[in-house]
Amino acid sequence: MQYECIAGLETHIELATKTKIFCGCTTKFGGEPNTHCCPVCTGMPGALPRLNRRVIEYAVLAGLATHCTVRLASRMARKNYSYPDLPKAYQITQHDRPLCENGYLTLDSGRRVRIRRIHIEEDAGKLIHEGGRTRIDYNRAGVPLIEVVTEPDLRSAQEAREFVEKLRRLARCLGISDCRMQEGSLRCDVNLSVRPAGSETPGVRTEIKNMNSLAHLERAMTYEWERQIRLLERGEPVAQETLRYNEREGTTAPMRGKEDARDYRYFCEPDLPEIRIPARWVEEWRAALPELPEERLERYRAMGLPDAAAQQLCEYRRVGEYFDQAAKGVGNPREVANCILGPFFAALGGEEEKEAFGVPVPPEELRRLVLLLESGRLPRAVLKKTLEQMLASGRPASDFLREEDLQRLSGEELARACRAAVQANPGAANDVRAGKKKAIQALVGAVMRETRGRASAREAGELLAEMLRETPGVCEKC
Ligand code: ADP
Ligand code: MG
Ligand code: ZN
Repeated sequence: MQYECIAGLETHIELATKTKIFCGCTTKFGGEPNTHCCPVCTGMPGALPRLNRRVIEYAVLAGLATHCTVRLASRMARKNYSYPDLPKAYQITQHDRPLCENGYLTLDSGRRVRIRRIHIEEDAGKLIHEGGRTRIDYNRAGVPLIEVVTEPDLRSAQEAREFVEKLRRLARCLGISDCRMQEGSLRCDVNLSVRPAGSETPGVRTEIKNMNSLAHLERAMTYEWERQIRLLERGEPVAQETLRYNEREGTTAPMRGKEDARDYRYFCEPDLPEIRIPARWVEEWRAALPELPEERLERYRAMGLPDAAAQQLCEYRRVGEYFDQAAKGVGNPREVANCILGPFFAALGGEEEKEAFGVPVPPEELRRLVLLLESGRLPRAVLKKTLEQMLASGRPASDFLREEDLQRLSGEELARACRAAVQANPGAANDVRAGKKKAIQALVGAVMRETRGRASAREAGELLAEMLRETPGVCEKC
């Protein structure tokens, strides 16, 4: 039998506000355990929350960028459950009136993945299991999150990956999160079910919690769908449960029975007033939206950049902005992209450094070097070497380029190099005279070597063609 695989994602994104959602504690990642805490975020009796305005702004930006409707009057709710990482024994989140609803993200295939809602909530603390003991760090408790919930519109693990990548790019571009999966600032829960192809009835779904890498997400989904299909093939039911992914074995295992909304005893959060957003604020935020990754990607494709390069440039906002500045007025923007994705990315270590993109080469300097390359004055290899030296030392190009590297080749020098190439390659020269146009490439190559790439290949080709038309042929046999 053929089956249809179905999935929906719940993605949690930690917002890059300076302070937590309901108190003034820092949201900085890490730190000595339990030092980024106060009575509010550790749930001391009598401590009262105050909503951070910036959280609303960031969540609304995410909503606007994903075509959601923004609810101008929403509210917070209490979700009750007891777990040691949750000091109040309830999480302040949103339930029946989320901030943003009914949006979508478009996949490369053109298919839309509907976003059911984006709501704001507080993160929980962290349990640290060590040497048979468990300790608790509340530094993360109260860090603001948005939860982005899709409709069950995903049909493959690749689509899920693409969705998360797109969402991550968007959040980074908006500047609302660094989205580092390995640090947990972006985590997803994935809900999966299968049903016989053509059937309209949804299958029973399971939920895998807390995927912290895209590779794990893809592998876990593939495994879980196969497991569900095997059960159905054997005529056994799929149990609705919450699963944990075992990274080492690549399998899923039950964590707990799936709870439903009733289990959480949701009710309106009494310690916080209704959230009323002036419509004027939303319009201001909308007007201030930066160029979104999809628009930027389109623009880069239109500039003639290959798809993979365009995607990489759009991954981090600063990289795209740098590229735009450096590529201004350059003949072939691909040259600029190659420098950034080659030497620059090689010099930058991980995600964090690419995100900050603190390279010691001002974009104007890169533009100048690429223009020199394009005018034929700077050989490609020298450009690359120079950039590497600049990146390693933080010193300007003038420290590494010889004066002669930047001089335009005189007509005299070009003519001399062409004559030398003809003399050194009589066979190729005769071929050109005999009308074999392609043979000229060997001569052009010789000229480029001779001039250390300072000649323009086009000019060299033209001059060689002219020379070989005028000088009488030398018979190789003589
Ligand atoms: P819960 O409140 O239990 O988390 P929701 O109805 O809010 O459940 O849905 C959570 C996620 O599960 C959503 O992303 C949704 O798209 C997904 N989902 C719902 N039904 C299915 C299904 N039959 N198969 C796969 N995913 C589903
Ligand atoms: Mg859920
Ligand atoms: Zn606090």
